[in-house]
Amino acid sequence: MALEHLIFPSGPLGTNSALIWCDRTHEGILVDPGGEPEEILDLALERGVCIRNILLTHAHPDNLAALPQVREETASGVSLHRDDLPLWEAMSELCGELGMLVPELPEVDEYLFEGHLVAFGKEKVEILHLPGHSPGHCGILVTSAGFCMVGDACFSSSTGRTDLWGGDSAAQEATLDRLERLDPHLLLIGGHGPSFPVRDVSRARRMKSTNI
Ligand SMILES: [Zn+2]
Repeated sequence: MALEHLIFPSGPLGTNSALIWCDRTHEGILVDPGGEPEEILDLALERGVCIRNILLTHAHPDNLAALPQVREETASGVSLHRDDLPLWEAMSELCGELGMLVPELPEVDEYLFEGHLVAFGKEKVEILHLPGHSPGHCGILVTSAGFCMVGDACFSSSTGRTDLWGGDSAAQEATLDRLERLDPHLLLIGGHGPSFPVRDVSRARRMKSTNI
């Protein structure tokens, strides 16, 4: 096996984070570091992973609280869809509204886009632009491992809210349509809670959206 991964909750809201790496070169990416940077750095150290890049599904505080420290200590790049830059730049206001600590964010190094292949070592993941919860919300498709991180687009039994800045209900519906059409063998990993199969998206749509 050449691509390895570890999915784990981080931060006060138990954000689903992922460390994904190439077992030949030990270079890897970190997705949505929601908090507890020391623990995340320990996980990478224990597995001998060199974090090259931090990818964000979207720029909400619970997806990036550990980013400044992890970036500082690993000298990794930071990748985000350009359409979430207004959120990134207004993080102090957003954190104030949500009652969260304001992280000191670095510059974004690379903009993610639909179809973008992000490489690390001899492996890669594919970016899906999934707007609705936020304008630049993305999914991280890891085909070789059979899963897709869908951030706050959808959870196992509810869908993501669209009432925060840049939320768009019509775009969210189109994103959920797209998720329903993904390969039925894929496992979806929402930003919070348990993973779920593609077939559960339709059930999640019948439930109310959450406040996450
Ligand atoms: Zn969010």
